[in-house]
Amino acid sequence: MVTSTFDQVNLFFDKAAGRLGLSIGIQEMLKRPWRELQVQIPVRMDNGKIQVFTGYRVQHNGARGPYKGGVRYHPDADLEEVRALASLMTWKTALVGLPYGGAKGGVQVDPKQLSKGELNRLTRRYIQSIEHIIGPTRDIPAPDLGTNAQTMAWMMDAYGQLHGYAPAIVTGKPVELGGSLGREAATGRGVSYILNETAKDLGLDVKETKVVIQGFGNVGLWAARLMHNSGYSIIGVSDVNGGVYNPHGLNITLLESYVKAGGKVSEFNEEKQISNAKLLELACDVLIPAAIDNVITKENALSIKAPLILEAANHPITPEADHILSEKGVTILPDILVNAGGVIVSYFEWTQNLQQFHWEENQVNDELKKILIRAYHEVRELALSAHVTHRQAAFEIGVQRVAQVIELRGFV
Ligand code: NAD
Repeated sequence: MVTSTFDQVNLFFDKAAGRLGLSIGIQEMLKRPWRELQVQIPVRMDNGKIQVFTGYRVQHNGARGPYKGGVRYHPDADLEEVRALASLMTWKTALVGLPYGGAKGGVQVDPKQLSKGELNRLTRRYIQSIEHIIGPTRDIPAPDLGTNAQTMAWMMDAYGQLHGYAPAIVTGKPVELGGSLGREAATGRGVSYILNETAKDLGLDVKETKVVIQGFGNVGLWAARLMHNSGYSIIGVSDVNGGVYNPHGLNITLLESYVKAGGKVSEFNEEKQISNAKLLELACDVLIPAAIDNVITKENALSIKAPLILEAANHPITPEADHILSEKGVTILPDILVNAGGVIVSYFEWTQNLQQFHWEENQVNDELKKILIRAYHEVRELALSAHVTHRQAAFEIGVQRVAQVIELRGFV
C-alpha cells in the first residue's frame, strides 16, 4: 500500500526504471536517499522560553554533482515529505541537464508564528547543525515554501562564520549579497515559458486561454504576473485562505498591489470568492497548482475540468489522480519540468558566485529559456514517440541520466 509522498514519487520512479530495464541493484541505489540527517533546533523565543524544533536535510543522490535543493519551513514538513522532495530534485536536475544531485531540507515550523528575530535564530541553529554535510561543492540549499532571500542571507552568514566568505553555499540570496538577477522570478518565469511553448504546440490562442492558479506566493504570483502581461486571461487565483474568481479575467496588477499591501487574495473584494477546493474544479483551459503537494487526489480528480495542467508546485497530484486524469485525456506537464526554472537560475547564481562575475538579467532569462525549452521538447518528443505520459517521459529521461553516470563512475 502506498502510504507516504516518498512512496508515491517512487511509483513514478518504478515505472521509469521498469521501462529502462534497470537492474534491481541500481534501482535500489537510485530509490533510497544517500544520507538523511535529523536535527534538534532549540530556539530562545522572544518571551525568554526555549522552544525545540525539528529539522531535516536529506541528500538523495549526488552522482551527477553536488546535492542541490530548497529548505522548507512548514508545520507538515516531515522526513517522508523531505525525502520525496529530495528525490524529485535528483530527477529534476538530471532532466534539465544541470551538474547537480538532489537534496531537500525542512524545518517543522509555521514561520508566520515566529518573529523576525526568532526566525533568524532558528535558521542559524539549523545551519550550525547541518554545516558538516553541506558546502559550495557538497550541498547547496535554496529557498522553498516558507523561506525566502532573507532566510538565505542568514544561512550564508551562519555558514560564513564557521568557514569564511562563501556566497556559493546557498542560492536565492538577496542580489546585494551575491544573489542572481532574475532568481526571484525564475520559477514563475519558467512556468510561463513552458505555457507559451505548449500554447504554440497545441495551437492555443493566448487571449482566449483561461488560466487558474492555486497559490499566490513566489511561484504563483510571478507566474500570474507574467502570464497576465502576455495576455492570458487569469480567471481564478487563491492563497492559503481561499481565492477569487472572475470568468472575464482578474486584474492581476491590482490584486498584486492589494496582496503586497497586506491583503488576503480571498478578500480582494471586487471579485467573487471561491474556496481552494472549488478553484481547482473551475472550467478553464489551464490549471496551475502552485502552492503545496497532494492537492489533486483520487477524491477530486474526476471533478477537474482543465484539459491541461502545469505542475508548478512539487507533487501536487497523487499517482492515483495522475492515472484518473491521464485516462480522461488530461495533459499533465510534470513538476520536475515545469518548476525547474528555480534550480536552473540557482545554478547560474552558483556559477556567478564561484567565478565572482555577474550576469545581466537578460542573459539570465535567455539562458533559462534555452535550457527549459530544450528539456520541454525532449520530454514532449519522448512522450509522443513512446506513447507515454509527459510525466513518464520526464522521469525516464532523468532516471536514465543518473543511472548512466553511476555506471560511468564505476562506484559499484
Ligand atoms: P510561497 O511560500 O512563496 O507561497 C506559497 C503559496 O501557497 C502562498 O500563496 C500560500 O498562501 C499558498 N498556500 C499555502 N498552503 C496552501 C493551501 N493549503 N492551499 C492553498 N494555497 C496554499 O512558496 P513558493 O516558493 O511559491 O512555492 C510554491 C510551490 O512551488 C511549492 O510546492 C514549492 O516546493 C514549489 N517550488 C518553488 C520554487 C521556488 O523557487 N520558490 C521552485 C520549485 C518549486
